[in-house]
Amino acid sequence: MNDTNTANSMKIALAGNPNSGKTTVFNHLTGGRQHVGNWPGVTVEKKEGICTHNSHHITVVDLPGIYSLTAYSLDERIARDFLVREKPDAVVAVIDASNLERNLYLVTQLLELGSKVIIDLNMMDMVKSKGIEIDTGKLSAVLGTPIVETVAHKGEGMDELKEAIAKAQTERSDFFTIDYDHDIEAEIKKLQDTLTLPGYPSRWAAVKLLEGDAEVLNAVEDTEIVPLVLESQTKLERHLGYDLETALVERRYAFLSGLVKESTRRKLDLMERLDLSDRIDQILLNRFLGIPVFLAMMWLVFQLVFTLGAPLADWIDAFMGWLAKGVSSGIQGVRGPQWLSSLLSDGIIGGVGSVLVFLPNIMLLFLGIAILEASGYMARAAFVMDRLMHALGLHGKSFIPMLLGFGCNIPGIMATRTLESEKDRILTIMVNPLMSCSARLPIYILFAGAFFPHNQGIVIFSLYLLGIILAVIVARVFKGIFFKGEVAPLIMELPPYRLPTVKGALVLMWERSVLFLRKAGTIIFLGVVLIWCLAFLPFGVEYASQQSLIGKLGSVFAPLLKPAGFGFWQAGVALSFGILAKEVVVGTLGTLYGVEEIGLTGVIQTQFTPLSAYAFMVMALVYIPCLAAIATIKRETNWRWTGLAVGYSLVLGWGLAVLIYQIGAFLMTLM
Ligand code: GDP
Ligand code: MG
Repeated sequence: MNDTNTANSMKIALAGNPNSGKTTVFNHLTGGRQHVGNWPGVTVEKKEGICTHNSHHITVVDLPGIYSLTAYSLDERIARDFLVREKPDAVVAVIDASNLERNLYLVTQLLELGSKVIIDLNMMDMVKSKGIEIDTGKLSAVLGTPIVETVAHKGEGMDELKEAIAKAQTERSDFFTIDYDHDIEAEIKKLQDTLTLPGYPSRWAAVKLLEGDAEVLNAVEDTEIVPLVLESQTKLERHLGYDLETALVERRYAFLSGLVKESTRRKLDLMERLDLSDRIDQILLNRFLGIPVFLAMMWLVFQLVFTLGAPLADWIDAFMGWLAKGVSSGIQGVRGPQWLSSLLSDGIIGGVGSVLVFLPNIMLLFLGIAILEASGYMARAAFVMDRLMHALGLHGKSFIPMLLGFGCNIPGIMATRTLESEKDRILTIMVNPLMSCSARLPIYILFAGAFFPHNQGIVIFSLYLLGIILAVIVARVFKGIFFKGEVAPLIMELPPYRLPTVKGALVLMWERSVLFLRKAGTIIFLGVVLIWCLAFLPFGVEYASQQSLIGKLGSVFAPLLKPAGFGFWQAGVALSFGILAKEVVVGTLGTLYGVEEIGLTGVIQTQFTPLSAYAFMVMALVYIPCLAAIATIKRETNWRWTGLAVGYSLVLGWGLAVLIYQIGAFLMTLM
């Protein structure tokens, strides 16, 4: 029976939905020479025939007509068992190409199972008469399979199909995966790592376990994997607010929907029956309306985040101020040491507080993102911005994190989690600090107001623009250095719209916020204590004065800052404190010059020139992300990338400031 041993012999299976033309293809391939047999154990008709092509001897097996490979129906189980147990050399997926999305579902299942697939786009005559154009090149590149177009009942394309089958024997195929979303992927990975199930591809088995597939569950019965599966399912369903199996199926259709949308063009679309999602998409993805709608959505989210967040932030700020006062007067009350009072109030409460005030904004932002994600709009936004982002060498989905960065880089960096490609995620994280966050605005306002009173707006705008331009350059350079090579075609999934559940969104928001607090909190805490020590020591000096360690440190930096035109220790200290949080720069200058922020304008006018002021603003924009951003980068990547982010921004910021000052000074000597 096993005649697949010699080099030119192979066994292939035909799989496809009912009525996709399998029998027709089968008869053409085998010349109608079929014989009917019984499947071992199950009495279902199977057809087997022989096809010869050049010197190739191909055994063709016709599988039952099926829609998927879930083991629900007997037919589906037979097909699956055959594919898993008998491992044919290749599977020809016979597809009704005029109904691409639905038919491709089975193909994704075959691919996920690890089968070597050849796609037979059958019924191409129907496709043409419906006025649809299929970009088979793109389809083939994304799915990683050869594709043959056929009109089976007329015998068209049969030779090409035979050729493709013969070739498939020697060709290696890539392992195709669908990206479920970040949360689900994490659980798949977890299960995959502990799973050993001979005969099944581990990723496929992990997905099937999450899906609650009875047969795979049986196979792992009584092993330690079962409680893990339950745990993953419960966790995911709590996030989703609906059941996991639906979510997985939906993700596959989302992928297919995106794939079909990007690889087909319809010449006459009048006759098309549109479902609701498609109709909404016609507006939201419209060439002219897409971007305005998107901007309106973003405006809404920013309103939510900053308008609603601002009073909450003020409360936390006020509470921290009250707490600091209370603690320090409490310590003085019991005649506690002065340093302790300073450490607690100036250092810890002041420092950690300056980060905590962002918490309401961050939580609201997470809520906004969770709602947009769950509703299906986020995928559309990425779709709309895709072309623009390609100019940056990034993916459309990178747009949201970049945009959020203008508010605050931390949620911007955290939002990169929606990116599936590690390359895009890291590039987006690395350039995110160049998006000028709102904490840097007070610095611009102070300096632009003092030195460019008539062109304040243009000067500040130029800084934002500079950040964007630098981001483009840095992204391109890093991509060239670290992520060389072909860019894989990426599909934007278009999941169906659905009303987000309140509970799902809140749970997601809460879990992400707690993560932010716990991990970023520890690093911020340590940083704050360190900086306080530097400002307080040695004993007896005035807090944050030139005699303090940080003052001395500032004096050390001062010569380094001299080529940039602001070589005084106060600038060095302000920039050092600015690493803690960029908001602190202006306040620090105030403390160091011993004036309220209002009097600051006059003082800096005596130390800076318009040129050195601009250089200082550029430095403040680019040099070293704030501590919370560094902590977040570390959490999302590793120490190496974090080190690079700190290093490149410092060098770039300093270099630019020096360049601006030196060139400016040189030009002025010419005038
Ligand atoms: P199966 O259920 O997958 O085995 O599909 P069949 O081979 O029985 O085909 C179903 C119907 O589709 C038959 O009437 C075929 O003649 C017809 N058919 C098969 N291939 C094509 C094709 O390429 N174009 C068109 N228009 N009809 C086809
Ligand atoms: Mg048939």
